Amino acid sequence: MDFRISAEQELVQKMVKDFAQREVAPTIKEWDRKQEMKPEILPRMAELGILGVCIPVRYGGQGMDYLTLGLVCEELEAVDTTLRVIMSVHTGLCSLGIFQWGSEDQKQNFLTPLASGAKYGAFGLTEPGVGSDVANLTASAKLDGDEYILNGEKTWISLATKAHTVLWFARTSESAKHPHAGICAFILDIDRDGVTTGDLHGKLGVRAGSTGWINCQDVRIPVGNRLGEEGEGFKIAMSCLDNGRYTVASGATGLIRACLDASVAYAKERQAFGKAIASFQLVQQKIARMAKDYEASRLLYMQSGWLKNQGIRNTRETSIAKWFATDASFEHASEAIQVHGAYGFSDEYDVERYMRNARGAMIYEGSSEIQTLIQAGYALGLREDASLRRELPAYDAEYWLAEK
Ligand SMILES: Cc1cc2nc3c(=O)[nH]c(=O)nc-3n(C[C@H](O)[C@H](O)[C@H](O)COP(=O)(O)OP(=O)(O)OC[C@H]3O[C@@H](n4cnc5c(N)ncnc54)[C@H](O)[C@@H]3O)c2cc1C
Repeated sequence: MDFRISAEQELVQKMVKDFAQREVAPTIKEWDRKQEMKPEILPRMAELGILGVCIPVRYGGQGMDYLTLGLVCEELEAVDTTLRVIMSVHTGLCSLGIFQWGSEDQKQNFLTPLASGAKYGAFGLTEPGVGSDVANLTASAKLDGDEYILNGEKTWISLATKAHTVLWFARTSESAKHPHAGICAFILDIDRDGVTTGDLHGKLGVRAGSTGWINCQDVRIPVGNRLGEEGEGFKIAMSCLDNGRYTVASGATGLIRACLDASVAYAKERQAFGKAIASFQLVQQKIARMAKDYEASRLLYMQSGWLKNQGIRNTRETSIAKWFATDASFEHASEAIQVHGAYGFSDEYDVERYMRNARGAMIYEGSSEIQTLIQAGYALGLREDASLRRELPAYDAEYWLAEK
């Protein structure tokens, strides 16, 4: 494996870092306090090409590889988790899901506006009564002529009130042999009759982001909006999570880096007992552990990015990367507060926001407990990945960069 970053990747990294530092960092505390997403964020990310960074040019994207997506997420979350959450749902879960499973028509009609940033995407899997146990979801889709009629509610949906397009998972069959075999995936335009959305408030973290609910009441969509085949929805959802978890892992790596940078700066400046606190070994230990886990998290997500570029299934590796980096980011955000003492306990510094933001990533896209079960399953030989009907395509620069 060659983990060197190319000149093009460095340029993208720098552009994203500049955007996050200059256009988001200065006002992030204000928006976090307001519990609202700054309206300029999504249009600017679209304008800069960030939203479609790893999608082929022929489908409206920038034609970069999957590793670049990870590098982008690392830079975004080093400033605020809400920026990376946008990439997780819009790019990782929704756009790459359509790229992997969509027909040519679906890619032209739905992926192209998402990748160009003309439209925003979301991912509707979780329901009020079903989170980890998604095979038992209850939203329904009934075939009626050449349309499906959708009913049901999804909650905790990132970008619920901002998105135009949502990947919607619903049950088409109650009589399937296993509950997961009765699920279908749909590409749902949010402006269809019968769709209502709303925001959730009072969240611990990602407060400058958008999280909400989407309700479907007798919503009619054409059969052509079904993604994949009848009964393939569960597999599609899980493969989307392989891409979403990769963005969560790389983002959490950026959060660890932010904790490290903030702790180093503060430890050098703050004096106690006549010395900079950086000279105390117990403070150094915290900083050293942040540096260790930053490197480990980075290598883990880069491994996943490399596997994606090769077109090799990476469910196991991506789950480890997500589990390791998200648990570590919460631990180090908490330690960064400790390094800052009482000042870390106030929003005068960023580290308290880092800790609140890190907490959610241990729950969404498969909680730490679910990642533990996945890894136990692989280690004990109880779990094996069968090949999918449609795998995420391997990166091919010539194809990705060609106009047609
Ligand atoms: C900020 C945020 C954004 C989100 N965005 C989206 C989104 O865009 N789209 C979407 O579809 N969902 C989204 N979610 C929902 C998220 O994916 C779910 O919260 C997650 O899957 C967990 O489901 P749950 O909250 O219902 O918890 P539950 O499944 O009810 O789990 C509760 C607890 O039980 C544990 N548990 C459950 N099953 C087991 C088991 N078998 N063994 C051991 N422990 C177990 C869990 O780990 C957890 O600790 C988001 C959530 C948050 C917080």
